[in-house]
Amino acid sequence: MKSFRASAGAGEIDPEVAWKAVASRDAEARFFYGVMTTGVYCRPSCSSRRPLRKNVRFYATPDEAERDGLRACLRCDPKAERRADPAAAEIQDAVRFLEEHSGEAPSLGELARRSGLSAAYFQKTFRRLVGLSPKQYLDSVRMRKLKAGLAAGKDVTETIYASGYGSASRVYERAGSELGMTPAQYRAGGRGVSITYAEVASPLGRMMLGATSRGLCFLQFGESDADLLSKLRKEYPLAGLEPMAEPRHPDFDGWIEALNGYLAGIRTSLDLPLDVRGTAFQMRVWKYLQSIPYGEARSYSEVAAGIGEPKAVRAVATACARNTVGVLIPCHRVIRSNGELGGYRWGLERKRVLIDTERAGRPA
Ligand SMILES: [Zn+2]
Repeated sequence: MKSFRASAGAGEIDPEVAWKAVASRDAEARFFYGVMTTGVYCRPSCSSRRPLRKNVRFYATPDEAERDGLRACLRCDPKAERRADPAAAEIQDAVRFLEEHSGEAPSLGELARRSGLSAAYFQKTFRRLVGLSPKQYLDSVRMRKLKAGLAAGKDVTETIYASGYGSASRVYERAGSELGMTPAQYRAGGRGVSITYAEVASPLGRMMLGATSRGLCFLQFGESDADLLSKLRKEYPLAGLEPMAEPRHPDFDGWIEALNGYLAGIRTSLDLPLDVRGTAFQMRVWKYLQSIPYGEARSYSEVAAGIGEPKAVRAVATACARNTVGVLIPCHRVIRSNGELGGYRWGLERKRVLIDTERAGRPA
């Protein structure tokens, strides 16, 4: 079994090795990783969704992570001491086995036999070290795989079986408490993710940013913080919403500075990580919008033609109106063929300012 141990001093963590440990949820890894988009730090073994590599930083101790403005994850409790246990290696091995073989639903007896421990001792030690019984852990792995499969838009029935559920009815029994919705509904609009948000001032008025561990999922303008929070809730009714802790992480403040520079016409490009989800059609439209150069505009019909659906002009307009990350997916660069502005989710006045700012700042 390969394991990772951070060497004695801070700053000696090899980011490549550390990232591998995070990706494989290495239970033996003795360091911590922080996710810049959410302001949370975790143990590598944390069961939360894997963040994007570029949003992650590594720390030798919880103190270091907290000095960097991060707070401890509630799920993996990185500050809790973990005493070495004589059976730790066996239990870690069992955890990995469960992750890889959740579809086969190994029984407690099988797991104990594999580890060479008695069933009772295995069960007790597993619970002490992992915080869940083997059965509960197996359930959580399957539920995680099910959610991931559904969120990726995979076939419902296939995903149910691939996740290790013997029948659809078993999933539907649990859907109420775990998914909050039936699998089909989850695939259609459910999120089940944690979103950290912050409100800031911008040249276009109050602005709210929301981020998952993978990137920004919400950038909208509103009249007040309460108005923005209700918009966020409406957009992600099932997500866990949490205000970003103060003081905010320096990376986040860096984003805001870049964004405000962009909105003021001082910068002409932005490279912030995004985590948006939509229908396949919406994703095609949004991707196309990101290819429209700074300072330029396209008509709704040009966008429709650009994605190979020349008749879908109205659907393109709807996809623009459903954009959840303003500015970063530049739906303001789409106007009517006759030069009129058309609509804008955050008001025509803002669209006009954005277009004028870009035209003035367009590279010659
Ligand atoms: Zn965690």
